[in-house]
Amino acid sequence: MDETFRKSVEDLQRLHKFTDDELSILEKVDKAADELAATEFEHYLKHEVNTDIPKIAKKYGLARIPIGKEYGGDGAGLLSAVLLNQRFGQLSLGFPTFYDVDVFIGALTLQKWGTELQKERYLKPVAMGDKILAFALTEPEAGSNPAEMKSVYTKSGDRFVINGTKYLITNGSIADYIIVFARSADGDGKITAFLIDTKSKGFEVQMHLSEKVGLFTSDTAMLEFRDLEVSEECVLGEMGKGLHVAYSALLNGRLGIASGCLGTIDGSLKAVISRARERVQHGKPIGKHQLVQEHIAEIKQNLEKAKWPTYLAAIRKSEYDNDPDNRTLMEEIDLKTAVAKKIASRLAFESADHAVQVFGGFGYSLLSPVGALFCDSRVTRIYEGTDEIMELKIASRLLGKEFEAYS
Ligand SMILES: Cc1cc2nc3c(=O)[nH]c(=O)nc-3n(C[C@H](O)[C@H](O)[C@H](O)COP(=O)(O)OP(=O)(O)OC[C@H]3O[C@@H](n4cnc5c(N)ncnc54)[C@H](O)[C@@H]3O)c2cc1C
Repeated sequence: MDETFRKSVEDLQRLHKFTDDELSILEKVDKAADELAATEFEHYLKHEVNTDIPKIAKKYGLARIPIGKEYGGDGAGLLSAVLLNQRFGQLSLGFPTFYDVDVFIGALTLQKWGTELQKERYLKPVAMGDKILAFALTEPEAGSNPAEMKSVYTKSGDRFVINGTKYLITNGSIADYIIVFARSADGDGKITAFLIDTKSKGFEVQMHLSEKVGLFTSDTAMLEFRDLEVSEECVLGEMGKGLHVAYSALLNGRLGIASGCLGTIDGSLKAVISRARERVQHGKPIGKHQLVQEHIAEIKQNLEKAKWPTYLAAIRKSEYDNDPDNRTLMEEIDLKTAVAKKIASRLAFESADHAVQVFGGFGYSLLSPVGALFCDSRVTRIYEGTDEIMELKIASRLLGKEFEAYS
């Protein structure tokens, strides 16, 4: 097993005892990440989506890891999925972003809110890796405040007809099913979540977004829904409670992002230690220059600062999953996941920046092991709640709901 990953497993074991089955799943995760490494780099250089990401997820049965056994999963829980994203995050954020959407905010949301029919029809094939999920909340004019969305549905007999545009959707052009949010056009304007099949008439991938600053290996798309019809069976959660579904999905999602960020920090640290030992300037390895040591020490501190809030938030979230009516615990998790996401994403970006500095000019190249980490980590301060929204959420949880400044 990768040494850095083994240390993280040991660290988390101090808070949570993994079973032998979970430990062998983590061995498998490690192997899968090694297999992805070669092609991930190649695709990154070409600025193209890595189609091996879903293939490797399927080959190693990764989507099913945190899903309940009754739905074809391993039942290994959230903490194994956190470590998975951390391990893949050493390479880039391509895989963690795919997995965050497919599993953290996709499959786990279906598991929580889906009917038995929906779980049979949609969750099981996703758990098997045969089908891929996306989550479409953001629109061109509704990002930080999804309540401003313009996508609408109308009721026509026992069918719903959806119209709208969704923007910046991860897995958007590779997904088989999408959790889509739209507001009622002819009723109270409330938002409902729907499960749509991308083979449906009226679904179109309008644009594949390839001009991003980084995250090249992850699929991001703009989607159009034009008179797309779904049956009542495709409503996810209660009618009019779509934002409730979305916000509960984001609790898991923010853990998925934070754990991918831990991988960025791990990857940065590994790379600088090896570079600082090998690269010679002014007659000695650069690791003997104290200012270079400072960069290394900063990254290590960032890892410790980001790791424990993420692990603790994931542990508390697992407890909440077993006690879903506990409102106090839910509020604590809302706070803890925002803190973890905010800290981990900020420190991942800073760590990758330190790593680029230690690598010097070569660090500014995608050919170096830190170029992708630097380019990818920037987005983690934006998606699934920006830095600013996380700050406001943290403050309002402490001050009280009447101080909420972001809705
Ligand atoms: C690569 C990528 C993948 C993504 N994948 C998905 C996906 O799969 N599904 C999905 O639904 N979305 C996805 N998103 C969208 C992402 O969640 C949004 O970009 C994010 O929520 C921010 O929305 P916005 O871009 O519209 O920025 P805006 O909301 O326009 O914000 C612009 C700036 O204003 C600040 N701001 C906004 N409101 C406030 C406020 N009240 N107080 C203080 N500051 C404020 C923000 O923090 C930010 O700095 C993805 C985005 C990217 C870049």
